Amino acid sequence: MLVLGSGTSHGVPMIGCECSTCRSTDPRDRRSRASIYIQITDGPSVLVDTTPDLRMQALTYGLKRVDAIVYTHSHADHIMGLDEVRRFNVLQKSAIPCYGDERTLDDVRRTYAYIFHPDTPRGGGVPQIVTARVAGEFCVGPATFVPVPLMHGSRTILGYRIGSFAYLTDCSGIPDSSWPLLSGVRTLVLDALRERPHPTHLSVDQALSVVDQLRPERAFFTHMCHDLAHEETCARLPPGVQLAYDGLTFEIDL
Ligand SMILES: [Zn+2]
Ligand SMILES: [Zn+2]
Ligand SMILES: [Zn+2]
Repeated sequence: MLVLGSGTSHGVPMIGCECSTCRSTDPRDRRSRASIYIQITDGPSVLVDTTPDLRMQALTYGLKRVDAIVYTHSHADHIMGLDEVRRFNVLQKSAIPCYGDERTLDDVRRTYAYIFHPDTPRGGGVPQIVTARVAGEFCVGPATFVPVPLMHGSRTILGYRIGSFAYLTDCSGIPDSSWPLLSGVRTLVLDALRERPHPTHLSVDQALSVVDQLRPERAFFTHMCHDLAHEETCARLPPGVQLAYDGLTFEIDL
């Protein structure tokens, strides 16, 4: 499991900001937009979300395959890199299945109308994707993805549980019916935007109370804005809880 990006929609540093986090020389304070990459041993590789930073994420971490794309939701910071998957189509000589809920796939079809329009000139190539609506759990190779509905402001979006791991980005609350889906999670990646409350994201305190209830062995916060400097924030988090950072890797049990 590789964290490709751990930043909020603006990224960190933020354009035109001169705060200490945005000027930090700690590489963990440079956050591209939120995404993870799951490389299954001797199996397929799964990209969760296609951020506007996908090209640089792929170059930085040497990604050579994407066997499936899994979307959490259709906000711009999670879908605006879809055109970059053309390179994976060429390398793999195949279309890529693209999983998402109905609203996300509708938004992808509208935002990327040229991909789906038969008259689009094929000069530079268009992404070859096959959309697959998520309606319950699904498998990619040996991995079972369990969709976990989350509140993201007034909208319901999807987190995912894969074995003992859960990825819950862009989350302001967990509906009652989703808690049982998270029971027994040992590694958690969870939204924590900043200290102050926000209408569509968990604050650090709210994220810590989710961790308290789920009691995973380790939790990593993601989708942080520049309010949270890596080192000083990690110093005051409880044992087993850290901020994720771009390039963080760890093993998960499928
Ligand atoms: Zn986001
Ligand atoms: Zn800043
Ligand atoms: Zn969002």
